[in-house]
Amino acid sequence: MTEAKGDIGLIGLAVMGENLVLNMESRGFTCSVYNRTTSKVDEFVQGRGKGKKFIGCHSLETLVQSLKTPRRVMLMVKAGEVVDHFIQLLLPLLEKGDIIIDGGNSLYTDSDRRTKDLDTKGILFIGTGVSGGEEGALHGPSIMPGGNPKAWEHVKPIFQAISAKVQPGDQPCCDWVGDGGAGHYVKMVHNGIEYGDMQLISEAYFILKHYLGLNNDELQKTFAKWNTGDLDSYLIEITADIFGKKDEKNSNVYVVDTILDSAGQKGTGKWTAINALDVGIPLTLVAESVFARCVSSFKEERVKASTILAGPNPTEAHKKFTGDREQVIEAVRQALFASKLVSYAQGFTMMKAAAKEYKWNLNYGNIALLWRGGCIIRSTFLGEIKSAFEKDPQLDNLLTDCWFRDKLAASQDGWRQVASISVLHGIPTPAFTSALSYYDSYRCAKLSANLVQAQRDYFGAHTFQLLDDPKGAPVHVNWTGRG
Ligand code: NAP
Repeated sequence: MTEAKGDIGLIGLAVMGENLVLNMESRGFTCSVYNRTTSKVDEFVQGRGKGKKFIGCHSLETLVQSLKTPRRVMLMVKAGEVVDHFIQLLLPLLEKGDIIIDGGNSLYTDSDRRTKDLDTKGILFIGTGVSGGEEGALHGPSIMPGGNPKAWEHVKPIFQAISAKVQPGDQPCCDWVGDGGAGHYVKMVHNGIEYGDMQLISEAYFILKHYLGLNNDELQKTFAKWNTGDLDSYLIEITADIFGKKDEKNSNVYVVDTILDSAGQKGTGKWTAINALDVGIPLTLVAESVFARCVSSFKEERVKASTILAGPNPTEAHKKFTGDREQVIEAVRQALFASKLVSYAQGFTMMKAAAKEYKWNLNYGNIALLWRGGCIIRSTFLGEIKSAFEKDPQLDNLLTDCWFRDKLAASQDGWRQVASISVLHGIPTPAFTSALSYYDSYRCAKLSANLVQAQRDYFGAHTFQLLDDPKGAPVHVNWTGRG
């Protein structure tokens, strides 16, 4: 029998799997690779993997036999039933103490279930979020592992070696997140926040384009400038690049202007919004961003409605503009930044609620650090989230941290100005305006919910608490005087 040489086995040689194993190999690990369509194994080993330490396998048996013990097998396949299918095929081949890792975009409840099921069979399961797309997978992704904590020590050296690093001190954007589905949960929230960031940027673009009439060159310069300040982030950086890209066949045409305004989605934003309702946390910005993609997909209906429904025409707004362009550009920057702060505050509040509900011990400062490099939402400001939770690990809401509080206060005027502009000119900005509504609700010591309670009691005898005695006995009033 030949000596087992593989440090880790990977199943699924699509774009993510290929790049991850190339990253692992470049850090000195020997990787065994398998794919359902086995011709892809040969293509990879003789192509991108040529001359490198890969063990190409045409069956799961040879993959498992090629691995050092405890065996580490990572799945990088389509999420859902395919993951369960491979787990079932692997189980008879593995021994107690071996490790199965699922690095796809799996739903956290599936990872929770798999961790528990496999634990009863002596197999250690990790469900890990991997963010950063194909480039991240190759050069250093953000990795968010959760599952069976006994598996972590066996996987940590590989995962921390391949992950992105941030300064100071080359800190890896990879650390243990928590039990069961915690890793995939945190990745799900990351993806939800990514939806929010993208929607906010696209709303800023729409106002700059339609209200101020900025052309693509001006938009590129504006976003590039924003990327040097508080908004410094990967998504702002690539947005600036996008505005500069011209059609290869026609240099007068910008690619962005040729793209159909109908956004796709793969479901992780929807999962995040659904879970927000389950744990009772207003994640309004992410939910609005998911809905905005839904509305965008009704292209034909929107074109029809644009000829039927009354209101200002957003594309005409710039014709009436007579003010100070630079002042409005700064106001839009403030609106974007303040809304982004609200979005992250909502996301971290949701993770706190989930940790309580699902009994996870999450370290919020460390989660912010995991997202500082490698992933799509990487940005410098995540360091401020880490600092806020270091100062107060029990912080109720990031908005009340002094750094957030001061930045929001300083962005306030521009934020309110932009919300007014968009409403008055018919420019849709669901994320900007819902973020501002959340901010105003959260800082409102007395809301209008007393009337809602009165209505509930009126028609359904649901009772209410008294303002003067909030913990006292529930009260019911005979609102109509009838018996
Ligand atoms: P993918 O398109 O999601 O999946 C392709 C892989 O799954 C191939 O190896 C394919 O094998 C295998 N597969 C699909 N259906 C199968 C079935 N019924 N039975 C057995 N194998 C099956 O690949 P990907 O884009 O590289 O993503 C891999 C995972 O990472 C996914 O969960 C994805 O959501 C997640 N992810 C992707 C990105 C990204 O930017 N693409 C970023 C983060 C996370 P065949 O070659 O035989 O078809």
